[in-house]
Amino acid sequence: MESRKVALVTGASRGIGRAIAVELAKNKINIVINYNKDEKEAANVAEGIKKLGVESIAVKADVSNFDECAAMIEAVRKRFGFLDILVNNAGALSDKSLKNMTKEQWNLVLRTNLDGTFNVTKNALPLIRDNGRIINISSIVGISGNFGQTNYAASKAGVMGFTKSLAKELGKHKITVNAVAPGFIDTEMTKNIPFIRKKIMIAMIPIGRVGLPEDVANLVAFIASDKSGYITGEVICIDGGFSF
Ligand code: NAP
Repeated sequence: MESRKVALVTGASRGIGRAIAVELAKNKINIVINYNKDEKEAANVAEGIKKLGVESIAVKADVSNFDECAAMIEAVRKRFGFLDILVNNAGALSDKSLKNMTKEQWNLVLRTNLDGTFNVTKNALPLIRDNGRIINISSIVGISGNFGQTNYAASKAGVMGFTKSLAKELGKHKITVNAVAPGFIDTEMTKNIPFIRKKIMIAMIPIGRVGLPEDVANLVAFIASDKSGYITGEVICIDGGFSF
């Protein structure tokens, strides 16, 4: 019997990453939960996933740190031996207009979102089997830009360029590389947006509501499946129609 597929989801202790991990587990895929700070929640997610009948471990690594990513991938190799699906989801914000943005804010966001995608993917690549899937969580802000988010928009646009280039490199192994660009999704990351601004944003979404982590997870689960093998190098927006 063919052994079960294995997926690594970064930043899966909450929000979109957790929803992706759960959805992949429902499809009988073994799951590695990556987290940086919230060990307790990451362990809870892994325990919940095991109840779905698959294996799951939580591994700590700061994705902005290359050596920690190498150690995480070594832990995956020891436990599972290979990877089929990598979801680069871990991300951070630190908003300020460029005039007021510090170098630390720039570094935090670029190192987590863009360097993090490189650090994890570079280390994971030798473990990813043919027909694998790499799915990078970008943002519509990487296409449209946003006031106060020069750092975040630059990092997410960078992820798109990374995605397209790597798709060209890995096609020969039938490994697809795609980016998912969510709009406004209801998570910790967006909880501090002022109420009135949220109302204005919702009014601009044709579907008429904020997105849920599960909306993104359903798309990622499709891209992660065998049914998506002819889709690569794409940036797929999921924003209720906000940006079209
Ligand atoms: P979230 O609720 O803030 O969750 C972020 C996750 O990333 C947490 O699990 C956090 O884990 C982890 N994380 C943060 N820094 C990390 C690091 N250095 N190393 C490893 N893990 C790290 O955010 P979210 O809304 O689910 O966002 C998930 C992804 O979607 C991000 O890439 C974000 O940019 C993108 N996105 C979100 C939206 C939205 O509206 N929410 C829209 C577009 C794109 P710990 O707490 O354990 O560190």
